[in-house]
Amino acid sequence: MSSPSPSPLTFDQLALAAPVLKAVADVGYEIPSPIQAESIPPLLEGRDLVGQAQTGTGKTAAFALPLLSRLDMNQRQPQLLILAPTRELAIQVSEACQTYARHMKGFHVLPIYGGQSMSTQLRQLKRGAQVIVGTPGRVMDHLRRKTLDLSQLRALVLDEADEMLKMGFIDDVEWILEQTPETRQIALFSATMPETIRRIARRHLNDPIEIKIKTKTATVETISQSYWQVSGLHKLDALTRILEVEAFDAMIVFVRTKNATAELAEKLEARGYASAALNGDMNQALREKTVEQLKNRGLDIVVATDVAARGLDVERISHVVNYDIPYDAEAYVHRIGRTGRAGRKGNAILFVAPREKRMLRTIENATKQRITAMQLPTREDVSNRRITEFKQQIAETIESQDLGFFEELIVQYEGEHNVSATEIAAALAYLMQKKRPLAAKEVREVKPQRQVERAPRDHRHKGKGAAGRDAREQRGDRPRKRAEAVDGVEMSTYRIEVGREHGVLPKNIVGAIANEAGLENRYIGHIKLHDTYSTVDLPSGMPKEVFNDLKHAWVCNRKLAISVVGGGDCGDSAGKDRVRHHKKGVKSSEDKREKTRNKHKNY
Ligand code: AMP
Repeated sequence: MSSPSPSPLTFDQLALAAPVLKAVADVGYEIPSPIQAESIPPLLEGRDLVGQAQTGTGKTAAFALPLLSRLDMNQRQPQLLILAPTRELAIQVSEACQTYARHMKGFHVLPIYGGQSMSTQLRQLKRGAQVIVGTPGRVMDHLRRKTLDLSQLRALVLDEADEMLKMGFIDDVEWILEQTPETRQIALFSATMPETIRRIARRHLNDPIEIKIKTKTATVETISQSYWQVSGLHKLDALTRILEVEAFDAMIVFVRTKNATAELAEKLEARGYASAALNGDMNQALREKTVEQLKNRGLDIVVATDVAARGLDVERISHVVNYDIPYDAEAYVHRIGRTGRAGRKGNAILFVAPREKRMLRTIENATKQRITAMQLPTREDVSNRRITEFKQQIAETIESQDLGFFEELIVQYEGEHNVSATEIAAALAYLMQKKRPLAAKEVREVKPQRQVERAPRDHRHKGKGAAGRDAREQRGDRPRKRAEAVDGVEMSTYRIEVGREHGVLPKNIVGAIANEAGLENRYIGHIKLHDTYSTVDLPSGMPKEVFNDLKHAWVCNRKLAISVVGGGDCGDSAGKDRVRHHKKGVKSSEDKREKTRNKHKNY
């Protein structure tokens, strides 16, 4: 590498348990991210911690690696409890724990969240698990039923504490905190630090170490920066389109792991691009050779990790693609600084998944520069580009080659077959483009992932009303009197036994129902607060098990005890399909396996 920099901390230098270290090596992490480097040592020592970090910084591993390292594997009782605001996050964190603990014999992690069958959960809890990852509502429910025993708890993590606050779960979180042994260690992670969160930290944490990653943030002005919001296409297909249409000289593509560098470089190679991986596993000589090849045009694309690209200085790099978003603004600044060298113009493109939107804003705030949204080139753009290139090739060939022999051949063919020169040229053009058709192929579209909406309540209402109206307009029918249909799903009004007197707010109700019944927020309709109870519009004919989950869900320290207004059934099996269909996060086991496979691929 051209400019050596101080060698960063490695995972081996942290005192993690050997099986955990082995799993980290398996997933291909090269070095700890900043939040990991700062959090792991104090958490390993058993200290309490407050970390200001958001999704994408590597915060899950920041708490999971050290706290898993401290488990007593001779015990099967819960020793680590992780509270997360949504079932999606609970599942994700639980999968991450499973990955990091794959070499720990007898390890069990159990995600518990609403919407899952209670009997399965009870069975699993009975069987025992050292780690529980749950949403506050369901954890509370189990604590009240005394089906979750926290007497042996050693550590508790509050993940995305500010989200739990926003969703109205913070009182529940405090209640849960009070049910845990005083001796437990607490790690609190939050993207922002509103006063309520600080108060909780002051009240429940014991002399916590505070971690906030400061970022160095000067960007180069000659670099034009844009981002693509990942949707509709796989990242690889998106990158391929960009490569086809953007006029680039050399490109560096950043991914998070060593494994991903090799995988992506291979795929790009298979698509005809001169590409290679650059990662910390390669020895110095090989890394230097790769950089040399990039300089002298033997390679056009290098797929690198942050560590491997440290100090990389190659003038012809015209584009940097952040295929995986960096952990923080500082890493972003370092990455895009690989282009725009020696006063040249550079381009930086950032792929941002919906969950990573916040990191995009953090980068913009830290660099004090707007990153503009870009449109991906369309298929038509790709075809036009290929046609232009094709025409150029023809022109260059006519200009530079002696074509006498071929001209004679064509004249001969014209005479023998009585066809025009245009027809012959068209046939030859067809043959030539067969491997790479001039008309770009359609690529698989990816269905957008369902996200838990966290928009303010009145926004959602607007959306819901409009969606309901659209659906009605299409069907040409009139709205039901009691509850408006949403996207063609009939709604009924339900009563819940928590009202204004108990201090409930609509957001508390939405949060609890979304988590417990696993309903998308748009299917949670109008909410009306009364003094001692409230009403809420939900899909009609709710399946019995969802209904039961809701009966036992807690809000503001009270059971929802949901009932249908005016009585009526709740166990309609057609309704079951309807509601299941609209449930978020409830996937078939094949979906889950696919998700896990993809996740592992990402590592
Ligand atoms: P999180 O901030 O916990 O949501 O993590 C974001 C992503 O970063 C996950 O896909 C992790 O697998 C990945 N990740 C976490 N730590 C590292 C690391 N040290 N090196 C590379 N990738 C990491």
